Amino acid sequence: MDIQQSGSVCELRETCGFYCDVLYLYQKHEIWKGLVRRYCEGTSFPLCARRIYFYQTGKCAPLDLSPLGKMPGELLLEMMERG
Ligand code: SF4
Repeated sequence: MDIQQSGSVCELRETCGFYCDVLYLYQKHEIWKGLVRRYCEGTSFPLCARRIYFYQTGKCAPLDLSPLGKMPGELLLEMMERG
């Protein structure tokens, strides 16, 4: 599958687990909001690890893969507890 580059924001937002689910869970956390601003809704989306994974495998990336790369489980749990 060829990676897409058209548009000014990521075209995978409607089906992306990070954007749809994790963002919802952690929407109050500044780190996550910053990632969304920078990647999902910003110009860095071509560099997103989840997006690259999708175009390399044809599958949605696992939820522990952030736009920056794989997140340690402990950090995800900590984020979840903080909300
Ligand atoms: S996390 Fe990556 S693949 Fe998902 S919507 Fe944001 S930029 Fe697109």
